Amino acid sequence: MLPVTLPMDICCSTCENHMCKGTDVNFRKHDVVGETYRGAQIFRFHFNCTKCSAEIAIKPDPKRSRYVVESGGIDTLEAMRRRMEDAVEEMFYDRCLRSHALRASRELERNARRESESITPI
Ligand SMILES: [Zn+2]
Repeated sequence: MLPVTLPMDICCSTCENHMCKGTDVNFRKHDVVGETYRGAQIFRFHFNCTKCSAEIAIKPDPKRSRYVVESGGIDTLEAMRRRMEDAVEEMFYDRCLRSHALRASRELERNARRESESITPI
């Protein structure tokens, strides 16, 4: 076990605990079999969520000079992006439903008006 600080903000997938960059955790380091970068071995780091102890794995992405979450959690920025996308999608869907309901309502009014106009008094 390597006592280190998190190199990025991570949200646990199990309990949605947000762990900030710099949080103290104990890493377990493993080779990522078959992955090297410029001849250097890539390592995967496992650690446990500070709240629920679920296992989370991250590894470096040397081409982009950052870490990526492999399992058990998501990058907090990625989580925020997904929430924003969900909110926008929900807002768009809600707007479409309202628009559709409004069109359907107007169509019903038009049909009712036509029917009342086509009825001739006896
Ligand atoms: Zn957790």
